Amino acid sequence: MDIHSIGGQHLYYLESCKRQLWLYLKKVDMEEGFESVELGRLIHEETFEREEKEIRIGGFVIDFISEDGFIHETKSSKQVKQEHESQPLFYAYYLKNILGFDHIQGVKIHYPAIKEVVTIPLDQKKNQKIKQKIDEILEVSRLEEMPPLHSNTKLCRKCAYFEFCYS
Ligand code: SF4
Repeated sequence: MDIHSIGGQHLYYLESCKRQLWLYLKKVDMEEGFESVELGRLIHEETFEREEKEIRIGGFVIDFISEDGFIHETKSSKQVKQEHESQPLFYAYYLKNILGFDHIQGVKIHYPAIKEVVTIPLDQKKNQKIKQKIDEILEVSRLEEMPPLHSNTKLCRKCAYFEFCYS
């Protein structure tokens, strides 16, 4: 695995649980039809119904890129959370630093459920943060043994891999 195979889901799982990321990397897929995933998909489809500008690059899909160089991403959450920024910032990082699209400025995260838009520039600090996340994902991909259970069992109960991890 290298940087070109990394997609949004890898960033998402890295944020929530390294074991979840490892299972996903090993193609143990339990997410199909899972409620929270479906909700996110529905809200996304509704928000960008008129745009029809989805862009597929490597392992990820971008909602759209506006003329000012910002990548737009939609979250179904009713709360602005810092962990939401890694996915779209990775897309911005990849386009700017790996593919050489210099006009990329950062990301705008849309929260239609609370009618908020958060703007995050891809500055030096964010570049460093994303580089670190990429290294962590590649590190997990090289692990031969499954990482330990997450310490927060409440989070595990909401996870699609719960049956797998606790049976
Ligand atoms: S059930 Fe818990 S330990 Fe297993 S993948 Fe999900 S969050 Fe991680």
